[in-house]
Amino acid sequence: MKEDADLILSLPCSSSNVADSFMWHSDKLGTFSVKSAYHLGCNLASNSSSSGLNLLNSWWKFLWRLKVPFKVKLLVWRACHNWIASNVNLAMCGMKVNCFCPLCSTKLESISHALWFCPTLKKVRTMCSFFRNFKVTEGMRFMEFMIICMNQLFPAGMEFLCMIMWRIWYRRNGLVHASNSIHAVDIVPWADSYLEDFKRENFPLVIDYGAHRLRGIS
Ligand SMILES: [Zn+2]
Repeated sequence: MKEDADLILSLPCSSSNVADSFMWHSDKLGTFSVKSAYHLGCNLASNSSSSGLNLLNSWWKFLWRLKVPFKVKLLVWRACHNWIASNVNLAMCGMKVNCFCPLCSTKLESISHALWFCPTLKKVRTMCSFFRNFKVTEGMRFMEFMIICMNQLFPAGMEFLCMIMWRIWYRRNGLVHASNSIHAVDIVPWADSYLEDFKRENFPLVIDYGAHRLRGIS
């Protein structure tokens, strides 16, 4: 790694002309022992898992507090657990299905693809101007995708995004089962209007109707 190489090269050289030797950094005397390696391993594991756990806990708390209909939270929760029936997931469960996206037929239908990256959703993404600079990619897990969004959006923005994703999944299922034919261009205005009505009815004392518009969501 370049970072490691730079660190090593930045170490000052000894002026006492002592021969080089191996030193174990986790022991006061520099001597390696299985015991010190075990303690080092335990510390590393607990640090990484506790920070990951904190992030996950923050995300779940954030999600369940969002002011969106329960069905929307449930969809996002299931998507984060990889529990929605995209074609890739169905194939992983042993079903004989075509793993490609039924709408664009150009890519595998992962959850991130189905809920955001499908080329047929280009107009949706274009209308969400708040989303243009987010460092998200189609290959990342949906949970990771949402945590990145959480870190960059106000709750009202995330509520809007979750509502849009719910409509996207609804549209996808409708097109697959030929029960509806919602146009992509209608998804964002529908989500905007639905969410505003929902908040007015359920949170009449919270004055943030349309707050997403003020935050750059066009
Ligand atoms: Zn697609």
